[in-house]
Amino acid sequence: MVETTPSPFTPEVRARFQANAEKASRDFRSDVVTVPTEDMMKAVLEASVNDDIYDEEGDPSVKALEQRLVELTGMEAALWAVSGTQGNQICLRTHLTQPPHGVVLDHRAHVHCWESGALPVISQASTTTVKPKNGVHLTLEDIKPHIIPYGNIHFPPTRVVSLENTLYGTVLPLADAQAISSYVRGLPVAEGQQPVRMHLDGARVFDGVAAEGSDLRAYAACFDSISVCLAKGIGAPMGSVVLGSGAFVARARWFRKMLGGGTRQPGMMAAAALAALEHSLPRLPAVHGMTRAAAVELEALGYRFSLPPQTNMILLDLDAVGIPPAAFVEYCAREKIAVFPMARLVFHHQTSEAAVRALVSALTKLMQDKKKGVALEDKKIGGGYS
Ligand SMILES: *Cc1c(COP(=O)(O)O)cnc(C)c1O
Repeated sequence: MVETTPSPFTPEVRARFQANAEKASRDFRSDVVTVPTEDMMKAVLEASVNDDIYDEEGDPSVKALEQRLVELTGMEAALWAVSGTQGNQICLRTHLTQPPHGVVLDHRAHVHCWESGALPVISQASTTTVKPKNGVHLTLEDIKPHIIPYGNIHFPPTRVVSLENTLYGTVLPLADAQAISSYVRGLPVAEGQQPVRMHLDGARVFDGVAAEGSDLRAYAACFDSISVCLAKGIGAPMGSVVLGSGAFVARARWFRKMLGGGTRQPGMMAAAALAALEHSLPRLPAVHGMTRAAAVELEALGYRFSLPPQTNMILLDLDAVGIPPAAFVEYCAREKIAVFPMARLVFHHQTSEAAVRALVSALTKLMQDKKKGVALEDKKIGGGYS
């Protein structure tokens, strides 16, 4: 007789999963809102539970995830981290050994604007912010004049150039990353100094590479360190992975511990993240297609975008069409669609076609009312990233 193991997914558990996924399907605030699938939960049940700090061989599930990222990127070594912020700050701290030193980055960069001011606190670094001339992404021409060479005591020498792909859903193309990288790596190195390092905040690098149709390994080759988020579009419950050379990762491990990222049984979360990666990576092009199709409809309704919709995000420019953020949130809420007042619409693997219909219908009504001169709610509202 064949013994069958009872499924851990009782009808009650399944119903709860479906309800969670249904809620996520209508949530356009971010791609962090995805919820675990049954496959991810199965992976959790099958995960190893070693102590990732004490056990000398580490944790097999964590190692399997790290190894998968090494394979995908062609980087030498990988390290599991708790969050994207932690991943970025570990990388930057590992590169930035002794002030005075500075980081050149986009003026909108997450590591500069959205990480609670961690960079000057943790790495004692100055920043040089750069505005891309093309209004979308940095190029070598933007970066060049901002590199501070070692030598003049008035200025903190540039030690890291930190790029971001995607940034507000826009792609930093491979050709630009390559041009910046070869310029930076070709800079003269003063005696006793390290070469200037290239870091990538690759929170959504899978989206960037999928949208451009570029090669992830060629992309990764431009950088000395990369931090990749697994809890964004990939859909893991938590976690990021830091990538670099073997020596870099060995040193980064100290900073992960120092920043509270040495965890005991992270195998369960790493296993969920690996299952999420295998599930979501092949689905990114479909998510981007859905985003572009919605953008075409919204543009036809008269909406404008503050940045081009290139991956899984639409950034509406509500100001340009005179629609107050409060009305935008309210009209979407009437259709049971969750949005932030900043009017960034984010699509993910659990976004449903029905939700996109509801979103477009809410925004159709909003634009019609605006054109009719209906008084729109204009109170100041907060929430999320406002
Ligand atoms: C989300 C994000 C991060 C990391 O954020 P956490 O919430 O700390 O995981 C880093 N960079 C970018 C561009 C992001 O979007």
